[in-house]
Amino acid sequence: MSNLVVGIDIGGTKIAAGVIDSSARVLARYISKTHAGQPPDDVIAATVEAFHAVLAQAGLQRGQVAGLGVGFGGHVNGAAGLILTSSNLPAWDNYPLRDHLQARLGVPAILENDSNCAAWGEYRFGAGQGSRHLCYVTFSTGYGLGVVIDGKLYVGATGTAGELAHTVIHPDGPLCACGKRGCLICYTAGLGISRLVRERLDRGEQTLLRELCGPTPARVAGEIVVQAAERGDRVAQDVLAIAARYFGIGLSSVVQMFNPDRIVIGGGLAHVKHWLVEPGLVALRENIHPVLHNSAEIVYSHLWEDAGMIGAAVLAWESKI
Ligand SMILES: [Zn+2]
Repeated sequence: MSNLVVGIDIGGTKIAAGVIDSSARVLARYISKTHAGQPPDDVIAATVEAFHAVLAQAGLQRGQVAGLGVGFGGHVNGAAGLILTSSNLPAWDNYPLRDHLQARLGVPAILENDSNCAAWGEYRFGAGQGSRHLCYVTFSTGYGLGVVIDGKLYVGATGTAGELAHTVIHPDGPLCACGKRGCLICYTAGLGISRLVRERLDRGEQTLLRELCGPTPARVAGEIVVQAAERGDRVAQDVLAIAARYFGIGLSSVVQMFNPDRIVIGGGLAHVKHWLVEPGLVALRENIHPVLHNSAEIVYSHLWEDAGMIGAAVLAWESKI
């Protein structure tokens, strides 16, 4: 059997594909930003294109890879090969993505949630190596969690364990995209930062953000808020302080529930140390029981944006597809 698999990470803003060998080396890479966050037919077409593009780059034929591992940003039942729901579009509800991709590509495939893939990638080949009880958090547009307990990926009864972002922390808080009120994601990560900024703009507060992103932006990028904070903007600094605090509160729930020996922090906003991660770690310490102080080593991702793709490939490998 070939020692190569294709890993594909389907996120809300991009589709990343790689040819990966059994030591988790990435032999070829392809990124598409055009069809992510679209209905299933478009995403499948883009995924098929990414699969063939990455094979061509590596100089391989379809028969020379053992299979395909796919990570997807949404609620996933990996064992059943189903997308249960995606916060992007209702067309994804109960969608049999694994079987559709197998049929289109003619190779065996596995499907798993993207944060679970990233957790497994870090556990096997990244910053989680040597750990036994590992929690991986993605701190980017969303706030995801993947959990490894006793060396096994923990996915829960229906595959959706670790949906940290939609933990309700203020039952009377703002309406979340999921239909509940006051989820953690309303206050932190890219989505929470964007909502908090729009709330301040609606209140008519004085801020550089009005000129940087327009008076009624649909979505405000975290990077723009960081730029404004660095230029001394008080509203941007306030919003980031709130987002950092709730990031830490999320981490405190992870520590309280799972008592991991290590937490790996990844995702684009994990690079924003001064405004987000460092104050977040102070909030983490303030919000856990003292008996848990220093119970978990906290480290940054080693695989960064490749974590999901590599983890999906490794899961495909290990499932002996
Ligand atoms: Zn929610």
